[in-house]
Parts: sequence; C-alpha cells; structure tokens
Amino acid sequence: MRIGQGIDVHVFGPGDHVMLGGVAVPHTHGLVAHSDGDVVIHALCDALLGALALGDIGIHFPPSDPRWKDVSSRHFLLHCAALVSERGYALANADVTIVCERPKIAPHVEAMRRNLATDLGCAIGDVSVKATTSEKLGFTGRGEGIAAFAVVLLQRSRAPTTVAPDDPVLRELVTRAELDPQS
Ligand code: MG
Repeated sequence: MRIGQGIDVHVFGPGDHVMLGGVAVPHTHGLVAHSDGDVVIHALCDALLGALALGDIGIHFPPSDPRWKDVSSRHFLLHCAALVSERGYALANADVTIVCERPKIAPHVEAMRRNLATDLGCAIGDVSVKATTSEKLGFTGRGEGIAAFAVVLLQRSRAPTTVAPDDPVLRELVTRAELDPQS
C-alpha cells in the first residue's frame, strides 16, 4: 500500500464561477490560474503522484507549457489515474477537504464525487469530498482564495506494466519486489 498527500491553493480573481472537482460552482469571483484553477483536482493529482513518488503536478503539466492553458483539470486527473494503473495500483480511497468561506460547497459535493470517481475509475464510495471554513482566519478566512487538501491510499492490484526490464532475470526480480505485500 502507498499513501500520498496533496495541497493546492488558488487566489480569487475576476469571474462568475469557480471550478471545483470538475463542477462549475457559481460565485462572485473566479480563480486565477493557468488551467481552470480546480484546487480539488490539483490537490488530488499531487496526492496520487506523491503516493507513486512521481513528483508533482507542476512537473507533469508545467504552467509554462501553452498546451495546459485553460485546459480542464480533469485531463490532469485522468493522466494521474493512468499512472496509478500503469504501475499496478488501484485507489483504495481518497479524501479531499476544501477550505473557504464562500462559495457554499455542500450543494455541489455529490456532483464533485461523481466526477472524481468517474475519472479515477472507482466507486463513488471510495471518494470523499468535504469542506470547512477557517473561521474567518487567514487568507481563506478573508475570502482571498480557496485551499484544498487531499489524501489518497493506493493498493497493489497487479504487477506494473511499465517496469519491464529486458533482462528476464531482472524482470522477475522487479516483478517479485513490486508484488511484495510489504510494499
Ligand atoms: Mg493549482
């Protein structure tokens, strides 16, 4: 089993909605970002990449790359889900916490969970999304932006498909190590 955590923050700017978990939530502001600023998905991606020790979302999708300008963050999540699967893991569960004073998150939680479960190829019961305020303290409390925190647990599902050394002996060793229940 492998555990990972991810954190993301975006600042409010001009706009009439924020993207959270792939849901366009109406708001008096938007989020300033190179992509769609979906802090829920960005935190979740970083948690998945962290669990795999594969760096972070900035390495896989550099903000300097024009290909990711205004792209849906669900594209990033699908990429990370593919990496999890390629390496022979499956999501055990994910838990995401959104921190903001506004907009109200609760009415949109189920739609977010559905989106995330769809992209991760898991049951909706394996994905938790919840929200809290920070009691008017700090940048979230002052309504300057939104933060999201994610934790994921991955479980071994099969041998990885990408680690395939040419040497058959080495391949056997790698496969055995990857299948070690201790890992
Ligand atoms: Mg981000």
